[in-house]
Amino acid sequence: MTSFRDLPIRDDLRDLKPYGAPQLEVSVALNVNENTHRIPEPVAQHIIEKLAEAVIRLNRYPDREFISLRQALAGYLGANLTESNIWAANGSNEVLQQIFMAFGGVGRKVLGFGPTYSMYSILAKGTQTEYQDSPRGDRFELTAALVAESIKANQPNIVVLCSPNNPTGTPVDITVIEAAYEALPSNAILVVDEAYAEFAGTENESATALLTGRERLLISRTMSKAFAFAGARVGYLAADAAVIDALRLVRLPYHLSALTQAAAEAALAHSSEMLATVADIRYQRDRMILALTELGLDPYRSASNFVLFGGLKNPAETWQKLLDRDVLVRNVGIANTLRVSAGTERETSRFIDALAEVI
Ligand SMILES: *Cc1c(COP(=O)(O)O)cnc(C)c1O
Repeated sequence: MTSFRDLPIRDDLRDLKPYGAPQLEVSVALNVNENTHRIPEPVAQHIIEKLAEAVIRLNRYPDREFISLRQALAGYLGANLTESNIWAANGSNEVLQQIFMAFGGVGRKVLGFGPTYSMYSILAKGTQTEYQDSPRGDRFELTAALVAESIKANQPNIVVLCSPNNPTGTPVDITVIEAAYEALPSNAILVVDEAYAEFAGTENESATALLTGRERLLISRTMSKAFAFAGARVGYLAADAAVIDALRLVRLPYHLSALTQAAAEAALAHSSEMLATVADIRYQRDRMILALTELGLDPYRSASNFVLFGGLKNPAETWQKLLDRDVLVRNVGIANTLRVSAGTERETSRFIDALAEVI
């Protein structure tokens, strides 16, 4: 058995590790920010019917342009968007990869504000784009001045702002997005990753409101989190129609299977039922923040469905002790912290009780 390191692999990949949140069988899995509620039964039945219709036609390639899915996604987002402004792929990770392929590459630079989503640097590696990390402010907050100064100093080709930010939960004010766009060099794009936007609430406006007149602004979204559809792998993008044309240059033909398109469209036809758990998840998140504070720990502000909390002497040990109690959370490698997703009421209580036991 040889190792990939012994193969004639690209030198710049030889020392890397793949993305690897542990996938373990536990009764309380709060480690990858999924919506832990099941899909409502009537919605599942409708999806199954649509899948059955699609199966009979699997002898043919799917609609390469997935027009009706893009129409449904445009309708879901509103903001005067049409299908010409929408793109989709197998998870927003694939959308981001296509963006890096089209706008990054050798000799180009992507700027992120860390700690942030680990996939940005991994996708940069894979596309041979230089990744520049720029530190966040106090308690991981971003201000317009901090972001604008970093963009001007680093002259990137791609800026990625995660809003709300994973793994810290920090919301990014719409004025910060505006300032980032203003500060862009003329050969750069701004990607706003709104994977958790539905959890942010009305106090945090989506950057889709800024799209008109900003043709180098790209808003990435996903059905994996609030929409409870992580297993289906559907992420999407809202941007100027010219951006969508650029992504067609790098996508694989027929990248969205007929089954994916059918399932996503059927789910979107029930968006209010699919999103019915969001209010409770926000409530459970706030319950966790309160409980963590009462335990003497230091939770960070979160506009998402998860909480990063500090105050742990030995996060790896706490992680293991929680796992021993069948509760899986995430150690993202930020000193003295762990990250936990808000679950159902029962799961959230299990986490709080287990943590109270171990600290
Ligand atoms: C979970 C997550 C995604 C979504 O990934 P998918 O490929 O759509 O499942 C994207 N960005 C961030 C910041 C995430 O946390």
